[in-house]
Amino acid sequence: MAETRILIWFRNDLRLQDHEPLYRAVETQRNAALILPLYCFDPRQFGTTPFGFPKTGAFRLQFLLQSVANLRESLRSISSDLVIRQGFPEVIIPELAKQWEISTVYYHREVTAEERAVETALKTALDALGVQIQSFWGHTLYQPDDLPFEISHLPELFTNFRKQVEKESTVNPPFPAPEKLPSLPAIDPGELPQISDFDLCDSPLPIPHSPFPPLFQGGETAGLARLDHYFWQQNCLKTYKETRNGMLGMDYSSKFSPWLALGCLSPRTIYNQVQQYESQRVKNDSTYWLVFELLWRDYFRLICAKHGDRIFRSSGLQGVKIPWKQDWQRFDLWREGKTGFPLVDANMRELAATGFMSNRGRQNVASFLTKNLGIDWRMGAEWFESMLVDYDVCSNYGNWNYTAGVGNDARGFRFFNILKQSKDYDPQGEYVKHWLPELANVPAAKVHEPWKLLPVEQQRFNVRLGVDYPNPVVDLFKSAKANEQVYNTALGRSS
Ligand SMILES: Cc1cc2nc3c(=O)[nH]c(=O)nc-3n(C[C@H](O)[C@H](O)[C@H](O)COP(=O)(O)OP(=O)(O)OC[C@H]3O[C@@H](n4cnc5c(N)ncnc54)[C@H](O)[C@@H]3O)c2cc1C
Repeated sequence: MAETRILIWFRNDLRLQDHEPLYRAVETQRNAALILPLYCFDPRQFGTTPFGFPKTGAFRLQFLLQSVANLRESLRSISSDLVIRQGFPEVIIPELAKQWEISTVYYHREVTAEERAVETALKTALDALGVQIQSFWGHTLYQPDDLPFEISHLPELFTNFRKQVEKESTVNPPFPAPEKLPSLPAIDPGELPQISDFDLCDSPLPIPHSPFPPLFQGGETAGLARLDHYFWQQNCLKTYKETRNGMLGMDYSSKFSPWLALGCLSPRTIYNQVQQYESQRVKNDSTYWLVFELLWRDYFRLICAKHGDRIFRSSGLQGVKIPWKQDWQRFDLWREGKTGFPLVDANMRELAATGFMSNRGRQNVASFLTKNLGIDWRMGAEWFESMLVDYDVCSNYGNWNYTAGVGNDARGFRFFNILKQSKDYDPQGEYVKHWLPELANVPAAKVHEPWKLLPVEQQRFNVRLGVDYPNPVVDLFKSAKANEQVYNTALGRSS
């Protein structure tokens, strides 16, 4: 019988714990003659989006490089290594397969178009060589086989999905990390590229250079440390439900998203720790709510698996043909944080400076772009894709569909009242003052509506409207009303 020689293709799963391909390679193929871990930097991931933004901006690139470096260290600590290459996986993997007589390639499969196209091209190339493929599903809490419905029958409303899953499905325990791997033969491991090796300035649009130190350190080690900090050291899980709508600071929410997006942490590992926390510390609404939020993540991935490319179309999952504007002048005001609405501007400036924005912030700025400015939601989604350190194709496009009113939201035109949101979630104006220092002296009662400041107040609070801080780009309520009419006309409803 021919020897088993396995290549493990790491993608958005940069971890050793709860990594089924790795676990299967080690445990079920105990006498595998070779287990070759590989990561490819695919140049297509570093091109530009259709609207011309860098596909992977500086924040995520740095996080990715750290995560790959950490994976290499972890593999080296168990006698193996991570082979690093730059190029198309469907070219590099067959070359390695030929050279090292690989019998099977193991990997976690993805659900969206670009990633699946690479898998298809890889399969064609490997078929020609007689090399097998074994792909695994590994990004969600629940496995498709354990769901009470086929993916093709996935409910179109999150609540229906959640209720059925909570009632009828269970989460599998995570796969343990391997303790040891067979050492590699004399293969060139390849160098980890540097940030400067990537031409992030390909795009005609500016790349922000942040004066702020990075918020996140990539890699499984740092992800597990964050989990330990949030749950066990700071005991934040206990109050997550009450704090999760915050915007300022590190611990109002878990901040697990960057590690989840690149697969440095698996949702099952988090779930497993929630269960331990519930048995050792406390089980309450907050512990439930963190898992509830992870279910949203599962849901959008499954929605992408069900609907394919529809999630990327302007008309979205619902197929609503809204005449979105591609108004670059206003779009630039939005992304530079110069709309004249402090909550929107503070969030957009935080994103530009750190690569992160709270969920509350994301909902507000996305609603403002689509429901107040009437701008094509895909421009916003691509800007997020470029900027977010935690960009996840399914969560990003799923949430943008939802907020733009073309996705899984049956409630029609809903817009966030930015003023109410500001007062509810930033009553003292601490958040907006943090990111908009020009408003630092404005009292809380007026900081969310600076356009109401009288000339004498502007002088007293040291801010000149239209000079130091912009006047509002639109009237909040009139603009929402006008866009509601456009939306309802597209849907064939009267306002
Ligand atoms: C317009 C828009 C775009 C978004 N783009 C992304 C994205 O590219 N990547 C991403 O991970 N999240 C995205 N989100 C979801 C959410 O804002 C982030 O997951 C969350 O802010 C991350 O912070 P956290 O880890 O502290 O979240 P927590 O509140 O601590 O939640 C725990 C985890 O649950 C998951 N989660 C929470 N809310 C959502 C949600 N609405 N949808 C999907 N998963 C969720 C995340 O994995 C998160 O890490 C987007 C939301 C909106 C409104």
